Amino acid sequence: MILLNPGPVTLSERVRQALLSPDLCHREPEFFDLQDEIRARLLDVHDLNPDDWAAVLLSGSGTAAMEAMVSSLVPDDGRLLVLENGVYGERLSRIARLHGIECEALRHDWGGRLDLERLAARLDQPPAITHLAVVHHETTTGRLNDLPAVTALCREQGVAVLVDAVSSFGAEAIDFDGWGLDACAATANKCLHGVPGAAFVIVRRASLKGAGVARTLYLDLATACQAQDARGTPFTPAIQSYYALREALREFFDQGGRATRYARYLALAEQVRKGFETVGIEPLLAPADSSVVLRAYRLPAGLSYDRLHDGLKAQGFVIYAGQGGLGGSIFRISTMGDVASEDMTRLVAAVADTLGAP
Ligand SMILES: *Cc1c(COP(=O)(O)O)cnc(C)c1O
Repeated sequence: MILLNPGPVTLSERVRQALLSPDLCHREPEFFDLQDEIRARLLDVHDLNPDDWAAVLLSGSGTAAMEAMVSSLVPDDGRLLVLENGVYGERLSRIARLHGIECEALRHDWGGRLDLERLAARLDQPPAITHLAVVHHETTTGRLNDLPAVTALCREQGVAVLVDAVSSFGAEAIDFDGWGLDACAATANKCLHGVPGAAFVIVRRASLKGAGVARTLYLDLATACQAQDARGTPFTPAIQSYYALREALREFFDQGGRATRYARYLALAEQVRKGFETVGIEPLLAPADSSVVLRAYRLPAGLSYDRLHDGLKAQGFVIYAGQGGLGGSIFRISTMGDVASEDMTRLVAAVADTLGAP
């Protein structure tokens, strides 16, 4: 089965085999070697200086990393502004509210472009915003939000920026230093091609210092970072997921690193878009507004998502539905994971087949 949903991804044989590595106690030096290697390689993915940045590992899905980032980095006297244009932006707001963080949202239609004028106007007004949270690639629609423009406005006002990069880390360009980010949340099982269970926050070391009192025990970044820096771990980690992540990172660099992965995803995404064009299926967004990781397409008239999904599954492909109000009108294709151009050729043929079927 080929997974074209936005994580978990189709594994390479190399990563799958790593799941069978020896049993390991997380209080032994072998585990800390594993943890150290992952933390160092995660910083290398986007060429970060370890003096300024830390990769803090967590056991959980991508949402655990989002929650750790938001709950650990906005202090009690801070005020968070969340930019919402899809499911994950709205999730950032929910997390902040659950933790009692002073929070407001700039809401946009799902899939809409972030309104920079509204953002600039809000940042100019009291009460002062101290932190901004934004999704880099809004997986709901495949839109790549304009982080260079958003972060430029935040830098002017001295606003700290927290990014949900769960579905872009490892593929899309992220200029941590140039954009002046404070932290990015991400996970093993999307663009890095690991398995679910390991997530992480890349955080500016200086930002951890101002974090204040912990709001949670399990997801507190400062505690976790301190323990990991000292070759420790506060709790039992998802060790097999770590094995897979280490192998996935080794493979990532063997294949040429972030720019190579971007180029590979771009080629696959464009192949699918052009293939779908030949059978009359249109993308929801223009390629220039889209990520290379996932693209949303309009369901053709007369074809329900369920029929498309089931027809493709019978031919070995798992696709992904639209969420919420988009469920009846779009479907999504992610080209993350160990998938090749030949697979996309077969996918387009399978879609044509399903469209033609009575
Ligand atoms: C997948 C994803 C998440 C996290 O989802 P989990 O199911 O918790 O792994 C968060 N943000 C974005 C943008 C995502 O694509």
